[in-house]
Amino acid sequence: MAKSKSQTKRKTPKYVYFFGGKKAEGRADMKELLGGKGANLAEMVNIGLPVPAGFTITTEVCTAYYKNNKKYPKELKQQVLDALKKVEKEMGAKFGDKDNPLLVSVRSGARASMPGMMETILNVGLNNETREGLIKKTNNPRFVYDSHRRLIQMYSDVVMEKAAGIEPEEGKGVRQQLEAELEKMKEAKGYQSDVDLTADDLKELIEIYKAKVQEVLGKPFPEDPMEQLWGAIAAVFQSWMGKRAIAYRRFEGIPDDWGTAVNVQSMVFGNMGDTSATGVAFTRNPATGEKYFYGEWLPNAQGEDVVAGIRTPNPINEVGKSEHNKHLPSLEKAMPKVYKELLGYQKLLEKHYRDMLDIEFTIQEGKLYMLQCRVGKRNGPAAVKMALDMLQEKLITKEEAVLRVNPAQLDELLHPIIDPKAETTATMVAKGLPAGPGGASGQIVFSSEEAVKWAKAGKRVILVREETNPEDIEGMRAAEAILTARGGMTSHAALVARGWGKCCIVGAGSIKINFKDKTMTTNGHTLKEGDWITLNGTKGVVYLGELPMIKAAEENPYFQKLMKLCDQFRRLKIRTNADTPEDASKARAFGAEGIGLFRTEHMFYGKNSEEPLSKLRKMIVSKTEEERRSALDELFPYVKADIKGTLEAMDKYGVTIRTLDPPLHEFVPHRQDEREKLAKSLGITLEELNERAESLHENNPMMGHRGVRLGITFPEVTEMQVRAIFEAAAELIKEGKKPFPEIMIPVVSHVNELKHQYDIVVRVHKEVCEKFGLKKIPHLTGTMIEIPRAALTANKIAEYAQFFSFGTNDLTQMGFGFSRDDIGGFLPDYLEKKILPEDPFQSIDQEGVGELMKIGVTKGRATRPDLKIGICGEHGGEPKSVEFCHNIGLDYVSCSPFRVPIARLAAAQAAIKEAKSAKPAAKKKAAKTSKKKK
Ligand code: PEP
Ligand code: MG
Repeated sequence: MAKSKSQTKRKTPKYVYFFGGKKAEGRADMKELLGGKGANLAEMVNIGLPVPAGFTITTEVCTAYYKNNKKYPKELKQQVLDALKKVEKEMGAKFGDKDNPLLVSVRSGARASMPGMMETILNVGLNNETREGLIKKTNNPRFVYDSHRRLIQMYSDVVMEKAAGIEPEEGKGVRQQLEAELEKMKEAKGYQSDVDLTADDLKELIEIYKAKVQEVLGKPFPEDPMEQLWGAIAAVFQSWMGKRAIAYRRFEGIPDDWGTAVNVQSMVFGNMGDTSATGVAFTRNPATGEKYFYGEWLPNAQGEDVVAGIRTPNPINEVGKSEHNKHLPSLEKAMPKVYKELLGYQKLLEKHYRDMLDIEFTIQEGKLYMLQCRVGKRNGPAAVKMALDMLQEKLITKEEAVLRVNPAQLDELLHPIIDPKAETTATMVAKGLPAGPGGASGQIVFSSEEAVKWAKAGKRVILVREETNPEDIEGMRAAEAILTARGGMTSHAALVARGWGKCCIVGAGSIKINFKDKTMTTNGHTLKEGDWITLNGTKGVVYLGELPMIKAAEENPYFQKLMKLCDQFRRLKIRTNADTPEDASKARAFGAEGIGLFRTEHMFYGKNSEEPLSKLRKMIVSKTEEERRSALDELFPYVKADIKGTLEAMDKYGVTIRTLDPPLHEFVPHRQDEREKLAKSLGITLEELNERAESLHENNPMMGHRGVRLGITFPEVTEMQVRAIFEAAAELIKEGKKPFPEIMIPVVSHVNELKHQYDIVVRVHKEVCEKFGLKKIPHLTGTMIEIPRAALTANKIAEYAQFFSFGTNDLTQMGFGFSRDDIGGFLPDYLEKKILPEDPFQSIDQEGVGELMKIGVTKGRATRPDLKIGICGEHGGEPKSVEFCHNIGLDYVSCSPFRVPIARLAAAQAAIKEAKSAKPAAKKKAAKTSKKKK
């Protein structure tokens, strides 16, 4: 953790960091201590931007607060008072002073951004006394009274209700009750909008509010500014452990013990009239990556008005105008001088941070203040474009460009989209802002709870809301896509969906929701809960019904460029798990360098499987070797043709073909008519067939007669498959191709099993060579390492294996003793109760299953130094697992075709990270040796 000089010198720990004027005590690289917001506020001060003065209470205080029964370190109070003095000096105003009052905002700020998950309180320090001073200062009573009523509304909700642990019934919260009072007043006075309320109305409303707070919460609203300040600070710390913050951290994998910082900052006001404004902007377009200043602003408004989506915001400049908002005034036109200044800052910031930033600003009576900057969230296509553009602009290095794209985000480039043909004839029902890319269809639901419920029942849903708030997070997660009636591109729904790469449309203004009837109307259509709609999140269009989808365009030139760049860095080879020639070609197009797993049994499922399946069934229920051999002879041409097609599609690249793995009874027909057909083809009675089928039953088939065990009991089954492989390869060689089969034996636990199969391979190879007049058929023989015993005895197994492929699905199953098919019954509890940090079937459990892998690698290579080692379990396309495979020295990872690009990127990132961490170590070593020499 970064520490300032004064911290190391002084005995008293430093809990509070001042920022303001020309110099801040913090810096951008102190995020762990100051949180993202605090560190960046300090950095903006240090590079000369106009930031209202304030101070940051460190994340260490949050951690200490929770460790010590919600008590602060004793030094905190004085440090806060000292910092407040500095702020007062800088701003020329005094907190709590009735003539010249300083008001502050109190905001959270964790290390990682958690949009809208924690609390903010504005206008702290206002009371009946200080407001009079402020009125004198600003000569704007309406604004002051409005600020005061906003404080009461926010503070009573956040500090006095939520932080106090009060959970009111739906609709009975203090905030709603206060809002109802405001509506009542508007109605009584015949006003349409909030802005019609006069200063006197608001003054009256404040007293009504205070009485209501007393009535609802049984306590008076605090008049003492210091009490307000400490209450607000505590509420922010409390919100770190709030339900929605915890839920968000769980999704995002943010540890609870990081804590949040609290930023106390002088208020500046965007709602002081028409020369005041507030806005949110990005240094480049976060949805497309295009290089222009992009953002939204609202005149005469406070920060939360833009993000909350209560008013549809204006575009910041002319280039950023869209169909949706072209009639609205831009800041560029409305306040050209301020806009120019802001444009200068955004350029300076992007150059300084060398990344796309998300900034918040406020204009108070024509003066611009910067309130926040942070690295901006972006969707996948934008991330790729920006990384490559910034590389070309020489803003970042090649390595940085590769590291800038989150591998999971690549998915968004490969997102399904609505079939364009179907789209031309579809019925459009609404239009909004394109907040999250790709297409999605689902049944509409109107609440987060319903979304979760329906999704759990296996339904695909689209969550439709007026606007979303952090309480909707679980429903948003569960939904295929999100659609809101209000809000802009920086609204909560848009930010969250972008972060997740989820299809999302916001601000579809024609939609009117009736929550009671669970219906919505839009442009003359009425849709009820459960009706199907389809969203085009890239264009912002909503269609009636379920439209067909197609996989997204992998031809995106930026995507191809990024992939090429990755290939300059990665050491791992990337293969694919493909069972059909079509899958193989798809994967080749994505850059796969061979097949790491060809599951032979696929040919008995799905398309064109009827014939081979009937032959296989015959083989399975055969009683004698003779019967079996005759069935195998019938099966042989199918297997050979299937393998040949795939070897051909992967010409020159290795194709790892696995011998039959599943327990045989999986293929026995269940239907009576099929059983009769099978009995007939074998010339036996149905009773006889039923008897033979029964004999295949196993109590625990996953641990039963499968994989190599089948090859041991029925060597002729292995023999047929190996012959099919070699004959297919031989024919291709004769046709001038260069096939390279790698025969892989599954579920091996003892070297003798492998030796037994290896001997068959050697013998059949010789026979096929003779038959085709070839000297040899290039190939390898190897095994899967998917049983712990195999990993532990890898030195022995390597005597007969020329390659290993980690089957981490089974290795996880048997490493944990968790049934991979039944984990759904208890995994949610394991995650909820933090028994496991994540699903080990998704991301390799590095300390357990990973340790088995490490042993396998070390022992295997001790016997055979050139042993080729890969992975073909599902983890092979998961970014963290790919990095792990790189780090333990595997040669390749193999994954499903659509994850090949993700694996290519993750492998490049792993190599870059390794080189980066090796550099300082090498420097240190060099320094040591040169010291020694001296
Ligand atoms: C594995 O176990 O990781 C594997 C790839 O094999 P399967 O999933 O077919 O058991
Ligand atoms: Mg397996």
